[in-house]
Amino acid sequence: MIVIADQLSQIKSRISAAESKYHRLPGSVQLLAVSKTKSASTIAQAYKAGQRQFGESYLQEALAKQQALSAFNIIWHFIGPIQSNKTKQIASHFDWVHSVDRLKIAHRLSEQRSPDLPPLNICLQVNISHENTKSGIDLQELPEFIDEALSLPNIVVRGVMAIPAPETEFARQCLPYRSLYEAVKALNLPQLDTFSFGMSDDLEAAIKEGSTIVRIGTALFGERN
Ligand SMILES: *Cc1c(COP(=O)(O)O)cnc(C)c1O
Repeated sequence: MIVIADQLSQIKSRISAAESKYHRLPGSVQLLAVSKTKSASTIAQAYKAGQRQFGESYLQEALAKQQALSAFNIIWHFIGPIQSNKTKQIASHFDWVHSVDRLKIAHRLSEQRSPDLPPLNICLQVNISHENTKSGIDLQELPEFIDEALSLPNIVVRGVMAIPAPETEFARQCLPYRSLYEAVKALNLPQLDTFSFGMSDDLEAAIKEGSTIVRIGTALFGERN
């Protein structure tokens, strides 16, 4: 049986070990617990063990869990593919969205985010391994995309998210993160402070290459249902 509190402390140790090994400031990498397919009671266990940030990929499933957990002070991140007809609910029920990869979606999220709420934090999903997925904007489109997204009132562009093709070799895991990190830094926009890089199998490489938030599912909650 998986004891969530134990898994959580193991992941946190992996994160701090990587921070120290790769000369990152202690505490500079946050943990996003990816709870898709996991129950509200599993989330509650992680919450009781101190975890506050949770990531979900499927809107309907997320809304049900949010309702069940409304007494908890959770920071919710949407990390899944976004269809236009879902933007209204995403804009109303999440604090962060990591998977913005079309300007149309950025516009809709800004229009549909209530001005009474704090602005929605967004990351632009960049496609750094074309063979792996069709989602994500091309690196060459990033400057123009950011420029336009920065002008939208109810969202704040915080940085980038990437899901590279799976690699087992450490050096190969590092490469796509490194090129994206360098491309973003070259834009010289200090408000882009977020690099949503790294999952269960590559979090050390991601931290080496500048991650500020790792998205961890399997290593925390076990295999998905
Ligand atoms: C499911 C998912 C994760 C978690 O992946 P694990 O390998 O289980 O840690 C991270 N990011 C995104 C975008 C996901 O969809």
